[in-house]
Formats: sequence, structure tokens, C-alpha cells
Amino acid sequence: MEFKNCSRCGRMFNYFSGDVMCDSCKKDLEEKFQNVKAYLEENPRAGLREISEACEVSTKQLKQWVLEERLTFTEGSPIQLTCENCGARILTGRFCAKCKGEVTNALNSTVKQRQQQMLDLQKQMQPKRDPKSGMRFLQT
Ligand SMILES: [Zn+2]
Ligand SMILES: [Zn+2]
Repeated sequence: MEFKNCSRCGRMFNYFSGDVMCDSCKKDLEEKFQNVKAYLEENPRAGLREISEACEVSTKQLKQWVLEERLTFTEGSPIQLTCENCGARILTGRFCAKCKGEVTNALNSTVKQRQQQMLDLQKQMQPKRDPKSGMRFLQT
């Protein structure tokens, strides 16, 4: 068991994993998130500050939800998010779909390369044998 101070209200609580936040703050935050989502649905053109004031949520928290891809803005939103890689306009998260795909592809090809390297290595480790000479030996 581990006790920590809640990062939001400062109360001591029984910490398990994830965010350093007590249960009541987590619940509170989840309610706020639902409020923000509902507010955005009704006011798709609201800016960060407007949402923050209307829902009593810090802009920092709003940005956090965006990074977690929980909060998505619409095309008409004044909130300008840009891909960290290419600078394209995005609606949530950190990267545009194209860059996200490239990052995943890059990861996949690295894995494939490693697998190939392992196979090559295994081949080299095996003693070299000529199957034809083996056959000849059996026949005689
Ligand atoms: Zn708390
Ligand atoms: Zn991009």
C-alpha cells in the first residue's frame, strides 16, 4: 500500500497506479469531462478560454484531454491544433493521421528488419552442410 498526496486537492489517499489523484477528484474530473463534451457539442465554435470559463476547467486540463485524444474539436472550431511533425491542421491528439501512419510504419519496418537480422544470424550459426554430398554418402 502506498499513500500519496492528491495532485489536485492535496489530500492523502491510497495510491494504486496511474494519475496521482484521489477517487473523489477522479470522479469530479470525469464529470467535468462529460460537461465539456456536452458543452462542445452545443457550442462547436467555442474557444479554449470560453470552454474553460463555462465549464470551470483549466485550459491546461483541456489541453491534457486533447493530448489524450479524449477531446476532439470540429472543423469549425477556432481552436487551432497542429501536427507536431508536419504542422497540418488536426482536430485532436498530437499528430495528423498521415504522420501517425508514418510513425507506425516506421516502427513496423524496424521490427521486420530486426526479424530478418535474427533469421540471417540463425542461418550463419547453423553448420554449413551440402545436402548433395550427404546424399552421395548415403548411397555408397
Ligand atoms: Zn483529490
Ligand atoms: Zn503531420
